[in-house]
Amino acid sequence: MSAARRMKASLSCPQCGAEVDNDPGDRVIECSFCRTRLFASSGGPLCYILDPSSGPREREERPLLPYWRFRGLRFRVEPTGEPRGALIDATVRAVDDPALPPSLGLRPQLGSLRLLDDPAGFPLPTLGDREALRAAWERLAALEAGRSLAERFVGETICLIYAPIEDLGGKEAALARGENEGAVSLTGIRFLPLRCPECNADLDASPGALGLGCSNCGRLWWFGAGEPVAIDYELGGSANGAAVALPFWKIGFQAEGLPLSDQGDLMQHAGAYARASAASGLPLHVFVPGFKVHPASMLRISRQLTCLELPEPVEGARGCGLRFEPVRLSATEAAEALLVVLAGMLRSPRQMRLQLPHASIRPVSLSLRYQVFHPSGRDLVEASSGYAIPKASISFGANL
Ligand SMILES: [Zn+2]
Ligand SMILES: [Zn+2]
Repeated sequence: MSAARRMKASLSCPQCGAEVDNDPGDRVIECSFCRTRLFASSGGPLCYILDPSSGPREREERPLLPYWRFRGLRFRVEPTGEPRGALIDATVRAVDDPALPPSLGLRPQLGSLRLLDDPAGFPLPTLGDREALRAAWERLAALEAGRSLAERFVGETICLIYAPIEDLGGKEAALARGENEGAVSLTGIRFLPLRCPECNADLDASPGALGLGCSNCGRLWWFGAGEPVAIDYELGGSANGAAVALPFWKIGFQAEGLPLSDQGDLMQHAGAYARASAASGLPLHVFVPGFKVHPASMLRISRQLTCLELPEPVEGARGCGLRFEPVRLSATEAAEALLVVLAGMLRSPRQMRLQLPHASIRPVSLSLRYQVFHPSGRDLVEASSGYAIPKASISFGANL
């Protein structure tokens, strides 16, 4: 789990064949030789082979078996109700067999990873990513002092690593031949050009990007499985030359078992008393950054932005000519943070936090809000409220 050395992966540029390095799990590929910028689209997770140079004979003796690689934010709600977050980077076996090593340890950092264009014929994971993670946490919880009230993982990068494992008996051999029933399906990669499908303008080849705004026509494109899809967003604030729009997921939710029926209640309990009456009657929601930040910053920015009175977005406004910070966190991953964001917001009475893990909190709507910020010294500032986010916290996140 040490971050002392980062995992690196390589692939051949689909355009010119040159060797390209990138971070495992990052779907944005930029060839420094021919300047091609592509998005690696696939129906399942990206797959890599650890130490790909091993020969067929070695493969026979040491079959390649799948491990999930998780990089993201792990949040715990402490027994006091306080949420705490940490960055994690870990591998967990994707096959439900206690005879296999539970993780790959430092092997992926010390070895070399290669992107697998087509995982057909490779053994499928028998554990889905969340299931594998839960199993790993149960092992971890046995070693950690103090029980947490709740745990959440906000996955920024989840991919599969096929690693050669010492043959441990007949079961693995069957797995290695791909005879097992899979928990997830894997598909080959299609490389899509990073261009706006509407106006053909180049899109920013930002590492880790999933959603990319076109500065030319103002459309926002979601790159997932298949062709990029235009997604709607609300735009708050007005742009000028140096402005940048930051993405936030607006997560509407319902909370059963807590005295929260509308946004006014949430503001009241978050200590934002001045906002409580204006927010009364509005449906419950929080804003969660769609860009990558440190776990503590994620909780702080979510709380502060949710408690701000942002001006209503202009209906139908599009960010033509605007600089869009890419969306690097999917809506589903952002929604994973809902419970811990609330744990960070509810201040009075304090025991409300302790009720949180027992309440039923369900996201009911997910939408994207781009908010315009202006650079000012070391910060990005939202004009109408004066709310500032340090630039460094965003660039830190982009390079996680
Ligand atoms: Zn190339
Ligand atoms: Zn465009």
